Amino acid sequence: MSTETKFKVKVYPAVKPKRVPRVVSEVLKGGASPKAISRMKKESVDCPVVEKEVAFLVCFACPSFLRRVSGVVDCAGGNGPPSEWLIG
Ligand code: SF4
Repeated sequence: MSTETKFKVKVYPAVKPKRVPRVVSEVLKGGASPKAISRMKKESVDCPVVEKEVAFLVCFACPSFLRRVSGVVDCAGGNGPPSEWLIG
């Protein structure tokens, strides 16, 4: 898996927040405060790999996610999120 940034992807407030699968929320629970998670639940990115709007939390848990700095995700551009995570 590459650790070099292939795409810079802007995080934005979702007009209609995407649903986040339970498995993703469960994984992230250990790493972020409930307040931060509820804030991030309302954010999206336009993923260049699957070419659609993806919930930021799904992006955060994606194998290609490298880091988020100042509202921009560094994406390795490898595998995108599993299709079963794209539920809403
Ligand atoms: S980290 Fe994953 S979900 Fe986020 S932009 Fe890259 S491929 Fe898409």
